[in-house]
Amino acid sequence: MRKILFASSEVHPLVKTGGLADVSASLPLALHEQGQDVRIVMPAYRACLAALEGTAVVASINLEGFLLPVEVLESRLPNSDVVLWLVNSPYHFDREGGPYGQPESGDWPDNAARFALFSRAIAVLAMNEAGLSWQPDVLHCNDWQTGLAPALIAAQEQRPATLFTIHNLAYQGLFSRDEFDALDLPDLFWHMEGLEFYEQLSFMKGGLVFADKISTVSPSYAEEICNEEYGYGLEGLLSYRADEGRLSGILNGIDHDEWNPKRDPYITSPYSAKKLDKKADNKAALQRYFSLPQEPDVLLLGFISRLVSQKGIDLTISAVRQLLDAGAAVQLVCLGSGDPDYERDLQVLRARFPDKVGVTIGYDEALSHQIEAGVDAFVMPSRFEPCGLNQLYSLRYGTLPIVRTTGGLADSVEDADELGGGTGFQFELATPEALLVALNRALALYQQPVLWRQMQVTAMKRDFSWQNSAAAYLALYDDLSL
Ligand code: ADP
Repeated sequence: MRKILFASSEVHPLVKTGGLADVSASLPLALHEQGQDVRIVMPAYRACLAALEGTAVVASINLEGFLLPVEVLESRLPNSDVVLWLVNSPYHFDREGGPYGQPESGDWPDNAARFALFSRAIAVLAMNEAGLSWQPDVLHCNDWQTGLAPALIAAQEQRPATLFTIHNLAYQGLFSRDEFDALDLPDLFWHMEGLEFYEQLSFMKGGLVFADKISTVSPSYAEEICNEEYGYGLEGLLSYRADEGRLSGILNGIDHDEWNPKRDPYITSPYSAKKLDKKADNKAALQRYFSLPQEPDVLLLGFISRLVSQKGIDLTISAVRQLLDAGAAVQLVCLGSGDPDYERDLQVLRARFPDKVGVTIGYDEALSHQIEAGVDAFVMPSRFEPCGLNQLYSLRYGTLPIVRTTGGLADSVEDADELGGGTGFQFELATPEALLVALNRALALYQQPVLWRQMQVTAMKRDFSWQNSAAAYLALYDDLSL
């Protein structure tokens, strides 16, 4: 049995902005089920404290660079026995709004201090210096918000082995030199081979430079980030670490209980690969919800996404507009929030095709399940995609994904052939035209119900449960100190 400290800035269902939160609940849970002693540490945001019953103060720690002591609260990951530690600094985390900022006004101005404090606390826990009598074998950090922790303990004796997982290289935690100075970090960190990145402080580099190993959330993304196109200037460092054998990719799993069409409390009519006809009830319910004509035979497309450039929303809007202008028998339902320009563009598309397009702006867990169950195909033309979860949910729901061949999308979706082989549709170029070709291929196959059904059944049989991915992480933990 290994002792693993798992550090993350968001954990479902307590706080979530994206896939990191899903992983940060599912992976520790899967490790726990495989007999490991895993503990999660996250900031004590206001929303967490409100959602958790019965937290106990188990430690009070002093952190370098911060005046007031910080409490460590202990609770359990909801619906599990997994120990959850919350770093409680009310000044930094007890506020209304998201974990990183407010949608209208951007990032919190003190994010450098907030996540430096979090990283300092992680380091204290990792070194068993909080008086909790628990010395982890492995510190597993995730994304930039935890990036300083591997750096802070790198030179210490008898430290745990460290793994840093990149969930999205696009967010690096970059701050000014002044902020570096304010954080009381060792001067020697201000170096190209330390935390400095073109005269800025990079939290992400703390993980990339100092962790024993780096992983990312799909094998393809692990290769892509070593290239200029996806590396954001970090490709040299990442290639170097890859050459050392210290960069790998493990595809995320999904929570098979939460995402199970046979037992999904949010959907109208549960179904399985054997009872696929019932999926049609969910399609009708979704069309009703979005006030679209309840036509069983149109190809109903959907997407659920943060509305950011990464996700290729503009490609979807343009390609679907062209399809609808040409009179194709398709409908589109969308759920997302983010960039106001994309929100407006979606509303414009809806206004132009009110009986073909449905749009909900916002974040809605229940509706996201209903969309996965109700649509025929899921559109995910991401410009880059470290792993992506919605294509995995789609496969499980017999909803065929239409994806760009990148990152985790390339690793999880098998391209269709004319005989009903494969589990979805891939295309290479990030252009509306390339997506349009893929949409037309899907439309053509949809006219052949036997082949479509065959692909649905194949997709539903693919196993993306956490068991496999957790076993791969365990093997990686074993290799860390090699
Ligand atoms: P990312 O982490 O880049 O946002 P992922 O595909 O890895 O992308 O994970 C996104 C997660 O967030 C999925 O679980 C998805 O269903 C969920 N999600 C995104 N936007 C919404 C929304 N508007 N409403 C409900 N769930 C959403």
